[in-house]
Amino acid sequence: MTCVICDACKKSIPSPHRERNYNTLLNRDLCLDCYGKLENGIKEVMGTKREFHVNEHNNVRKDLLYRMTR
Ligand SMILES: [Zn+2]
Repeated sequence: MTCVICDACKKSIPSPHRERNYNTLLNRDLCLDCYGKLENGIKEVMGTKREFHVNEHNNVRKDLLYRMTR
């Protein structure tokens, strides 16, 4: 049986189903808890910006993801 370990909190995800109980971003696996934290973090950062830029959004996401999965 395959086992997925969340790259942020290092917990294993039992019977992993992508997009059901974990998500993969830039080759990193995130459990839904950590994925939610990532999304909230992005919203917090982006909420302070006047204009929405997709590139900026992607950079913020990459930055936060790398910080969480270090
Ligand atoms: Zn996690």
